[in-house]
Amino acid sequence: MEDEVVLRLDRATAQDLYVTLYEVGEHIAAGAPITPPTTEEVERIGGVLRELAHAIGRHCNAYCDHLG
Ligand SMILES: [Zn+2]
Repeated sequence: MEDEVVLRLDRATAQDLYVTLYEVGEHIAAGAPITPPTTEEVERIGGVLRELAHAIGRHCNAYCDHLG
């Protein structure tokens, strides 16, 4: 695949990502409630967002200096 982005996730993070995407999709489609995440889930999903942001060349926050 040209210009691909690869993220490696541990199983817990992959499960959190699946649940988050699934619940947001159901919320958008049918107004289903979104389960409030635990602190650990927030930290894991936050880590995915940071890695994904950097992988596509975006700053992870307003003060991000992680990009080259
Ligand atoms: Zn950053």
